Amino acid sequence: LKAELLYVFGDDLMIVNAARVSYGKHKSRFDQSDAKLLKYLKEHGHTSPFRHPQLQFRLHVPIFVERQLFKHQVGLTANSISGRYVDFSDEYYTPNEFRLQSKDSKQGSSDEKIDYYINEKYRIEYAGLITQIRHLYNKFIDEGIAKEQARMMLPLSLYTTFIWTGSLAAYLNLFDLRLKPDAQQETREVVGQMLELVRLTGKFTYTLEAWVYGKTIDNGDME
Ligand SMILES: Cc1cc2nc3c(=O)[nH]c(=O)nc-3n(C[C@H](O)[C@H](O)[C@H](O)COP(=O)(O)OP(=O)(O)OC[C@H]3O[C@@H](n4cnc5c(N)ncnc54)[C@H](O)[C@@H]3O)c2cc1C
Repeated sequence: LKAELLYVFGDDLMIVNAARVSYGKHKSRFDQSDAKLLKYLKEHGHTSPFRHPQLQFRLHVPIFVERQLFKHQVGLTANSISGRYVDFSDEYYTPNEFRLQSKDSKQGSSDEKIDYYINEKYRIEYAGLITQIRHLYNKFIDEGIAKEQARMMLPLSLYTTFIWTGSLAAYLNLFDLRLKPDAQQETREVVGQMLELVRLTGKFTYTLEAWVYGKTIDNGDME
């Protein structure tokens, strides 16, 4: 699973300037009152200023993760590699460890460790199945059968690549929902990478503090 950050448009200052236009104000330097304002905006549901910055990622994830990410739609647009045109059938996600189904949640997996030998047994069976599928897929392709049909047999663990562009607000919603413990671990992993990439830009330090890292909310001031 891999996230790359390709483009970034905007920063914390862009957000507070979008908010302050209500008062006909514009600043050229970010200061501590702006940090407070960002918290105030978040706390009071003034989300539109956070929609001005835009970010573009390239994500390389298994199809079952892509499907979960694509449920996030507002303020986001995606283009994916196409199995109709390209044979990308050679890379599959294989967990080191299978997780047991959680008993108290329908969605998640349990923290209980799987038996080592059962894990190894199913890892081997799973690898064998993938080899068989690839073999049949390649036979179809060699026979001249269209990729758009041959791909029907490929499993959800197949890796796919897509470009995802969206507003910072959309990604903040994604971070909120997909970094929680009830989100699927593989999805959490790639969304965690995305958050880290945004953090490393250093452009949204106070926004991330208000939305993701900081728990305390201050009163802000629109002036
Ligand atoms: C742990 C977990 C389990 C999930 N399980 C399932 C599942 O079993 N099956 C399944 O299908 N999905 C499932 N989802 C997906 C979930 O229902 C959302 O579709 C997904 O999280 C996207 O969130 P969102 O709607 O906030 O994102 P976006 O689509 O980006 O929407 C952003 C915000 O816009 C608003 N909005 C969006 N669409 C509308 C609308 N039509 N009308 C009014 N307001 C709108 C909402 O306020 C929304 O929060 C799961 C998500 C999580 C995190």
